[in-house]
Order: sequence, then C-alpha cells, then structure tokens
Amino acid sequence: MKKIGALEAGGTKMVMAVGLQDGTILSRESIPTLRPEETVPAIIRYFREQEAEAVGIGSFGPIDLRKKSLTYGYIKNTPKPGWKDYDLLGTIGNALGVPMAFETDVNAAALGEYVYGAAKGLDSCLYMTVGTGIGIGVILDGKPLHGALHPEGGHILLKPRAGESFKGNCPYHEYCFEGMASGPAIQAKWGRPARELAGKEEVWEAESDYIAQALADFILTLSPEKVILGGGVMKQEQLFPAIRRKVSRFLNGYLSIPALDDMDSYIIPASLNDNQGILGCIALFRE
Ligand code: ADP
Ligand code: ZN
Repeated sequence: MKKIGALEAGGTKMVMAVGLQDGTILSRESIPTLRPEETVPAIIRYFREQEAEAVGIGSFGPIDLRKKSLTYGYIKNTPKPGWKDYDLLGTIGNALGVPMAFETDVNAAALGEYVYGAAKGLDSCLYMTVGTGIGIGVILDGKPLHGALHPEGGHILLKPRAGESFKGNCPYHEYCFEGMASGPAIQAKWGRPARELAGKEEVWEAESDYIAQALADFILTLSPEKVILGGGVMKQEQLFPAIRRKVSRFLNGYLSIPALDDMDSYIIPASLNDNQGILGCIALFRE
C-alpha cells in the first residue's frame, strides 16, 4: 500500500503524519506554526524523510479550493504573519514532486470521520470544531462541500440571549457565532481561559445555547445524518447533553428525521483520538 502524507495545517501548530489508506498511521509529528520560511521547509523535510508518495493537506483558512483559479492552494486572508496569500499547496507540491490534494481543515476532519469514524457508512455528516476558532466541515453525498469558497459556518449571526451584554470578539461581526462562543471569546467575556471556568454553570449554559442555535441552523440547511463536535472547548463534556436538549427544543419537532429521535447518537464527540484531520487528509486519495 502507498505511504500517504497528511498535513493538518493549523494557525498554532502543524500536524504531519504518514499513513495508509486503510487508516493505519505510521508516524505522526507536530511542530509550531511560525512564519512560512521556517515552518514549510521543516514540513517538506519530514515528508521527504518519511518517503511520502502523495500528500493531502487540510488547512486553516480561508483558502482557495477552486482548481481552475490562479491562486488554487493558497491561504487567503489571514492575520497570521507571513501566511496571507501564501502558496501552501504549490510550495510543498513543487518541492516534493508527488500528487497533492487540498481541503479545509474542517472538511478534512469531516472526511476522516466519514471514512474511518463515527459517520462511516452514511452519505453525509457535519463536523464542527469549537476551539481557537469555530469552523464547520460538511460531507454531502460523500463529497466535501465547497461552493464559491467553502462553508464559513463559524461566522453565522446568532440571536443574543436575554440580557447578553457581550457582543462578541469577532473583528468583522457583532453577535457572530465564533465571536460569541470560541475559546478566546469565552475568555474575553468571562476574564479567564475556558478550561478554568469548568465549574461555572452560567458559562456553559450560554455556550450550549449558542452552539445549539448554530447547530439547529446547520441541521435545517444542510440536513446532515450525523453531527460530530470537536475542538478544545468541546472537552467540556457537560456541553453535550445541554446541546442535544436545546437543539431538540429549537427544532421543536419540525423535522421528521428518524436520526433526530436519538439525539445521543446524532450529536456526538469526535471519535478518532484527534486523528480525524490527518485521516481525512489521507482519505483525500481514496478511490
Ligand atoms: P485550535 O482550535 O487552535 O486548533 P483547540 O481545538 O485545542 O485548538 O482549541 C483551543 C481553544 O480551546 C482555546 O481557546 C482553549 O481555551 C480551549 N480549550 C482547550 N482545552 C479546553 C478545555 N479542557 N475546556 C475548555 N476549553 C478548552
Ligand atoms: Zn464573525
């Protein structure tokens, strides 16, 4: 079997791995995301040493996924120093000279769950990460959803809760999902890192409310057969029962989808030990 390289390119770290199409991971390493001049040569070196015969990338974004575009494979508009308009796919692909594939980090994670994990055997799923940012990856009819750019579900607008005085910390939007509910948003609103607020009930009451509002919208618009939640903030396991209850309440019986009758198996945590992203990058080369 071919040795396939996987790069989960994140704003804070780069996870690199080599694995096989059956889901075996042969090696895995991660390095901090510094400027591209430092980080990209280290990535190229790793895949050379590991003798990767193809490399799939799941990248933070926004990114250009349109194959006919002159900037296909570029990272677009990011505040990360050095990475704006950076040709990530081309730089790595030209150096290695092997077949390459490119996806969003969250579509790759969704694909990993779809091929190897919790959504195996279905035709669709939604993967959402709630971490430093919020993003959604969508598989519909077995294919990652792109469209004009790619879904940016972290920036949908929410209805503020009664008495909410925090407008969110997104520099673009007031009351947007990421601005209200990401890890840094929780810290901006409550004055302490999210993980230190584990015992503070009102934090998770609000958090589960915003996540459930967003999920109700995604379920109504995208109709996924499974909803998988990952990212640092979702380590707060008490969120899951609250989110399930509130999604049911917001949908209010409107959708007659059998999967919705069993919320415990419809909305679930990520299943692949934080390997869903790299496994999805490997799955980009499946037949
Ligand atoms: P990234 O989104 O950068 O890839 P993560 O998914 O780990 O990384 O998300 C990091 C964010 O998640 C941080 O804002 C951090 O505050 C938050 N976080 C990490 N661990 C926990 C935890 N146990 N409980 C709540 N929040 C957490
Ligand atoms: Zn926003």
